[in-house]
Amino acid sequence: MDDFNQNFDIGLSLAARNQNILAAFDAVNHKAAGFVTGSFVDTSWGKAVLSSWREGGHLIENHTWSHTHANETTSFSYLADIDRNSEFLAAQGFASEYFRFPFLDDGKDRATQEALFAGLKFAGLLNAPVTFDTVDWYTSSRLEARLREDPNTDLTPYRDYYVNMCVRLANHWDNAAQALGYINLPHLTLMHHNILNGLFLKDVLLALKDDGWAFVDARDALSMKSYHDVPPEPTNGRNWLTLKRLESGLDLAPYPQKYSNFGRATMDALGL
Ligand SMILES: [Zn+2]
Repeated sequence: MDDFNQNFDIGLSLAARNQNILAAFDAVNHKAAGFVTGSFVDTSWGKAVLSSWREGGHLIENHTWSHTHANETTSFSYLADIDRNSEFLAAQGFASEYFRFPFLDDGKDRATQEALFAGLKFAGLLNAPVTFDTVDWYTSSRLEARLREDPNTDLTPYRDYYVNMCVRLANHWDNAAQALGYINLPHLTLMHHNILNGLFLKDVLLALKDDGWAFVDARDALSMKSYHDVPPEPTNGRNWLTLKRLESGLDLAPYPQKYSNFGRATMDALGL
């Protein structure tokens, strides 16, 4: 779970959001990993959220201090931003082992990507890619826009859409993994600490459980060695399975909808 942006509280307080997210993990006995952008949580409230994750047994990991695009900055300043976040997290008592690139952007070209991975290694951090992107950031942005218009809007259709899409995407990406020969891949699911998950994460996790999924603790899933290799080319927003597919030359089923603007057509049709 990424970012920890504490910027939206219409319809659900920040305290309730965080409590609900932690309760959702507890409901399926899952220990997650939070990839934290320090500048988003450098408040007494943000630090309390981090403490609550520690008390819940979840990991706190590095997601840069300022959530910049690697392709919009120099590798020197990008690595300094990672260091700044490590120092912030260390001051809160967290020693991170893993790093996730904001926007899954690890540099505009091969040379930058290699420099950033060398910098990560020097900093004692391992890359944490994604195999299953829920596109929750887009779904949440639509929900937030609706709540700004009408704080009393009926949220049920948003829940149904999000739950259904998560189950569908999980199976899509596991089919991709199977086609690549990964029979029992410990998926790395990308979600964000946002109102959508504050409202519906428990529904999503229980629906996945009903669909036959089991939950691997983040510590175990992240430890798979091939997740930490330098990708074959700049990641440019793509997930680990998509890059593996390029390496293998296999033709896999396309994403359920065009990734750019994923969900827009369906949400438009549903009036969400
Ligand atoms: Zn992020």
